[in-house]
Amino acid sequence: MPLPSWVPIREDLRGFEPYGAPQLPGLIGLNVNENPYAPSEAVADDIAAAVRAAALGLNRYPDREAVELRERLAQYLGHGLSAQNVWAANGSNEVMLQILQAFGGPGRAAVSFAPTYSMYPEYARDTHTRWVTGRRAEDFSVDPQEAVELIKAEQPDVVLLTSPNNPTGTALPLSTVEEVLEVAPGVVVVDEAYAEFRRAGTPTALELLDTHPRLLVTRTMSKAFALAGGRLGYVAADAAIIDALRIVRLPYHLSAVTQAAATAALAHADELLAQVDALREARDELAAWLGERGYAVAESDANFVLFGRFEDRHAVWQGLVDRGVLIRETGPEGWLRVSVGTPEEMNAFYTALMEVDPR
Ligand code: PMP
Repeated sequence: MPLPSWVPIREDLRGFEPYGAPQLPGLIGLNVNENPYAPSEAVADDIAAAVRAAALGLNRYPDREAVELRERLAQYLGHGLSAQNVWAANGSNEVMLQILQAFGGPGRAAVSFAPTYSMYPEYARDTHTRWVTGRRAEDFSVDPQEAVELIKAEQPDVVLLTSPNNPTGTALPLSTVEEVLEVAPGVVVVDEAYAEFRRAGTPTALELLDTHPRLLVTRTMSKAFALAGGRLGYVAADAAIIDALRIVRLPYHLSAVTQAAATAALAHADELLAQVDALREARDELAAWLGERGYAVAESDANFVLFGRFEDRHAVWQGLVDRGVLIRETGPEGWLRVSVGTPEEMNAFYTALMEVDPR
């Protein structure tokens, strides 16, 4: 519903709707790239105990710098990182907004390569950052030559590379990130929200942090860690870049409850990540199954697969919804994205798709 005209909202925000995938309870949700495996009772007990302990101190503001949590996140990432190289916020969405608040803004520009995560343009809009979109190639890779040319022409303050990319699943070779770093005049952000799902041999941009002080690598506990509801995203970078982000953060942005829950969850990293291998296998099976049925399938290093092409993708999406399976109508025209679920959920998806689109 558009806002009534008397609401004195900023003119450039008029006509927008709040962003978000449809939330349709009761359906099999394969639409927002969640981890289908809930934390175990034991993990839930530990989170509850940590939150209880935090609750006894809720009359006080939380640790503004979330030092313990940042230490644990740095330990998890390895690569010689410490707390001063890591920053955390309420989901990597908030991290990305803070990045644009600190490094974008009026008179500044950010570049990304579409099709990519549909929230980015909104962070740019909200921070008055000029938004420039390069195109990905037919196979959804980023052509390093084209990227370099675009960056040279636009001189962006922020370059946003998503690897593995949403909604295509495409990971970038480190050489592309390096070529971009070479010419980018500002910061280069590699959004690695799905990094833990990457295939063997696919590298992480964390490897480049040592040698590239203007590189930021964002991660999240929402996907591999099965903690989407906990809202914890983070970024690794040079300590001075982290200090820049600290300038724009709200005081006490990360509640004591969030810090306690995320810290407790991290102590169970091995268990929470245990399903990642199964999800990667299921992702490969899903891609193979779709390919065998004659669909075009984007190569995926993430926990979802983009497939097509449909003349009327909305009809297919709706047909699946009618059969109780919710996937995502997103990405380039003619394609649909499905997240990897449990074996039962995948079977429901396979059955429904064969009914909706017999081939
Ligand atoms: N980056 C990418 C590429 C994503 O797909 C998502 C979530 N869909 C996010 C960031 C944000 O995730 P969160 O805020 O839950 O960490």
